[in-house]
Amino acid sequence: MQEQVRTRFAPSPTGRLHLGNVRAAVFNWLFARRHGGAFVLRLEDTDVERNVEGAEAQLMADLRWLGLDWDEGPDVGGPHAPYRQSERGEHYRAAVDRLIASGAAYPCFDLDEPESEGDEGEGTYRRYDGRERTLPKEEAARRVANGEPHLIRFASPLEGEVVVDDVVRGRIAVPAADVDDFVLLRSDGRPTYNFAVVVDDAEMRVTHVIRGSGHLSNTPKQALLFDALGAPRPVFAHLAQVLDPEGGKLSKRSGAKAVAEYREEGFLADALVNYLSLLGWSDPEERELLTRDELVAAISLERLGASDTAYDPEKLR
Ligand code: GLU
Repeated sequence: MQEQVRTRFAPSPTGRLHLGNVRAAVFNWLFARRHGGAFVLRLEDTDVERNVEGAEAQLMADLRWLGLDWDEGPDVGGPHAPYRQSERGEHYRAAVDRLIASGAAYPCFDLDEPESEGDEGEGTYRRYDGRERTLPKEEAARRVANGEPHLIRFASPLEGEVVVDDVVRGRIAVPAADVDDFVLLRSDGRPTYNFAVVVDDAEMRVTHVIRGSGHLSNTPKQALLFDALGAPRPVFAHLAQVLDPEGGKLSKRSGAKAVAEYREEGFLADALVNYLSLLGWSDPEERELLTRDELVAAISLERLGASDTAYDPEKLR
């Protein structure tokens, strides 16, 4: 029997949903519906300093308005449905214990930890030379038991290559030695982005990760973590970027608005979903106007494009 397709949208509640970030939700939703699978909503809210009050309710309202309904996540099955990372601390703790037991993670008493992480999580880890890897396990365990403040780091493999086959980007190979011993848990016990994402994707049995290409540089770390947890890696598909009409980074100034603004201005949700799905995906029949059902029937990861596409405000009129 074929495995059920399970996709997810994993926004951080740090502001309003914009065209660039909601596009990932559109593709994940279409792909799950195409295969009769499940679409999971997970709020990545562990970076508490960056959370914005009201953002969570707003993004759920935006998704509902767009008709991107989710099968698992907040507000499904009661107010304590489990897909807020801030409510899943014990899952990260349990995963860390397993990784320490197998030698794939270790406590580190040098508290040179990442500060706040950007959404894209890039470049925020300072390299760590892995000195404390060599501490005898018993000594490390004793210091932890004594309550000495510590982080948990991943024991990244020292040799070999990390190879990831991305549906859109093709094969990506990086020397494992280039992946540093990144932090899994901070000294206050909160997970980092890369760690929480992988524990969750593994436990939620996510089969396809469709997201912005800003996360490409995180993917080797995440692939190593899946392997270390003994979980199958999902299929990765990194979407090309949406640019502004001049080829720069899409921003408010270049005319892209928050989803809520399009709604207030009377745009139709179907028109927005149609427009977004054609930013980075091409219909095999080259139609420009597709109904929701036509989109669901036509979507495939193979037709996602690798080149960045410009947002064209004229087309959204
Ligand atoms: N929380 C991340 C973001 O807002 C998404 C993580 C992911 O899709 O892996 O960009």
